[in-house]
Formats: sequence, structure tokens, C-alpha cells
Amino acid sequence: MGSRRSFIEKVTVSAIGLPLLYNPSNLLAATSEQYDGPVLRVAIMGLGSYGNRVAKAMLDCKKAKLVGVISGTPSKIEEWRKAYDIPERNCYNYYNFDNIKDNPDIDAVYVITPNGLHCDQTIRVAKAGKHIICEKPMGINAGQGQKMVDACKAAKVKLLIGYRMHYEPKTVEVIRMRKAGEFGELKFFQGQSGFVIGDPAQWRLNKELAGGGAMMDIGIYSINGARYMLGEDPIWVTAQETKTDPVKFKEGIDETIQFQMGFPSGAVANCLSTYNMRNLDRFFMTGDEGWVEMKPSTGYGPIKGRTHKGELTRPHITHQTLQMDGMAELIFEDVEPIVPVDGEEGVKDMKIIDAIFEAVKTGGKVEVKV
Ligand code: NDP
Repeated sequence: MGSRRSFIEKVTVSAIGLPLLYNPSNLLAATSEQYDGPVLRVAIMGLGSYGNRVAKAMLDCKKAKLVGVISGTPSKIEEWRKAYDIPERNCYNYYNFDNIKDNPDIDAVYVITPNGLHCDQTIRVAKAGKHIICEKPMGINAGQGQKMVDACKAAKVKLLIGYRMHYEPKTVEVIRMRKAGEFGELKFFQGQSGFVIGDPAQWRLNKELAGGGAMMDIGIYSINGARYMLGEDPIWVTAQETKTDPVKFKEGIDETIQFQMGFPSGAVANCLSTYNMRNLDRFFMTGDEGWVEMKPSTGYGPIKGRTHKGELTRPHITHQTLQMDGMAELIFEDVEPIVPVDGEEGVKDMKIIDAIFEAVKTGGKVEVKV
């Protein structure tokens, strides 16, 4: 990048020897500016609903480009080749994608398959020497997450988790306000994450592929949200499960879990994760000097929110466009987002989910060490 901004950032990094911090106003400006720096060449693995959304969003990226696909469905590969001008040599299936190691035109693979496949697929990509962006949840338990982190470290490739909210402008603004002390001493967070899930035959309701039910899929937003809103990691959890439809939500697939988290400062969180209630996408946080309510808080946007100071007015930009440009910056220039998106961040959420499942079973308070 030949801009003044790049020069300032490079001076900063060499002066203090630390990774640069993502500044959303810089990134927003970059979306309307000419860009002539390095471009992250990405192959998407899993051409499903979210893979399609990411691919479309990447059309507006300056620093990342879709150049390849990995899919088990030949007809989708053909469609994507036409839609995104992808050369045949950059197309793989689940049996032969280890050969990506010999492909110099691909820098990173974005794993967007069912949760239960993420761990093995990520480790194979790491062994092929490519960076990995993996969707949330990174695996189906903390043990898998740690294996993924270790494999990527051993292969000297980056592992990033698809935490798109860490790049979302209104969320970033709330985190800035919290860091500046504008809410005072934080006391309470409330997160409500859920929707009514459809087709009972889908992988999200299959324990082996999903790893759990609503908690893995949508409850994770309240867990991760509590952590980035409060700026702390929990030290204990309690949790209670309710199931109204044991036919649709089989053993190991949670329908609704209410859970509480306690933080070192004394702040507490009370959250709801569900596959059986409509329109649940809300965060609320209060401190002794201010408060914030976001609704919707983690959907595809626009995110809406207000604080004790008034409405949050930062613009809506497609989350996945910001995320992929931001992740390219992280890979090429070590520009960290305001909240980490690395594998270790993913493992923290997995440890908390493991503890929530244990608390459901035991009915007691479970200590968490992230
Ligand atoms: P989909 O079912 O729509 O797509 C998953 C794709 O994975 C399939 O289309 C298929 O693609 C591939 N796949 C490989 N093996 C299997 C298998 N055994 N069963 C089913 N599909 C398989 O799921 P989503 O795109 O909604 O979710 C994928 C991942 O993305 C999940 O981890 C989910 O949590 C995450 N996600 C994240 C979101 C976010 O906002 N960050 C939002 C939505 C999802 P192919 O035919 O090409 O092989």
C-alpha cells in the first residue's frame, strides 16, 4: 500500500514493535480510495448459503479476492466458475484439496462447511501451507479448537475465525466508548440470540455435523458479544435448558438454553440462546454511568443501537466485505482488529460453550478458565 496511512502505520509498528490496531475510519475511507497493495487470494470451501453471501460481499473488497473453490457438488463449481471467473486449476473437491499446496495462486482457504467438519478440514489446509479463515463455531469443542490452533502454529500459517461483528462499525464504536470509560463501571450484559429453525433434516440438527444445537450456531453470538461488549472473559457459568420439541431437537441438540456468566470485575451476563423463538437479536449493557442497547445486534444489518448519549450513527457496510478486507490487512500487515479474530479467540468461546453444556448437565456453577 503506497498511501500516507500505510507509511504512518509502518512507522508505528517499527517504533513500538507491536501489531497495528484496526481503525474502522481508515478502512471505510479505503473502500472509496484506489488501492494498489497486496490482495489476499481466497478459495472458499463449502458453497452453501453463507459461502454464497461471503462470495458476493467479496466482490466489493479491495484487499481480498475470491479466486478458487472447494466443493463436493460439481454443478455448484460450474456455476461459481462462471459467476466469479474462477479458473479450473483453482477448483478442488474434498478428496483432492490437499493438492492446493502446489497452487501458488491461492493464499488462504475460507472454511464455510458444517461445524463438525471444520477441525479436520482446517488441519488439512494448514498442512497444505495456506492461511485459514474458519467459520464460527471453529469446531465442536475446545479440544478441537486447540488442535486447530496448534496445527496452524506448526505449519506457520494464520488461523482466523469468521467473527464479522469485530469489524462492524457500530459495534466497534460501542467498544471504543467502553474502552474510553463512557459507560463507567460495567455491571450487566444481556444477550438474546435466536430464531426458529426450519427443516428438521438439515445438518444444524445433526449432532455429529453441528456439535450441538442453537448454542453452537447462534448462542455463540451472545457469548462472544458479552466478551467484546464487557471487555472481559468469564470465570464461571450457570445454565438451564428447556426443550419443548424432543423429536426435532434430539439428544445433544439444544433447543433453548438460558445461561449466566460471571466476570472478574463482578459484572454479570444473562443470556438466551434458542432455535425456537422469533426475532431474538438484542444486546443490552449497563454501567454506572451509561448504557447501550443494540437491536438488531448481530444480524447481517443494518445494526441499530442507542446509548445514553443517543442513537449510534456509524454507517452500514456489508459485514463480510469489511471482514475480508480487514482479515487481508491482518494477514499481510498485522493490522489487528479492535477485538481479536484469531484461533485463540475462537478457543475461548469453545471453552465457554463446553462449560455451559456441563452446567446444563450438572445444574451447578461451572468454573471457566479461558
Ligand atoms: P449450508 O448448509 O448452507 O452450507 C454448507 C455447505 O457445506 C454445503 O452447501 C456444502 O457445500 C458443504 N458441505 C460439505 N459437507 C457437507 C455435509 N456433510 N453436509 C452439508 N453440507 C456439507 O450452511 P451455512 O452456509 O449456513 O453454514 C456453514 C458454516 O458457516 C457453519 O459453520 C455456520 O455456523 C457458519 N455461518 C456463519 C455465519 C456468520 O454470520 N458468520 C452465518 C451462517 C453460517 P458444497 O456442496 O459446496 O460441498
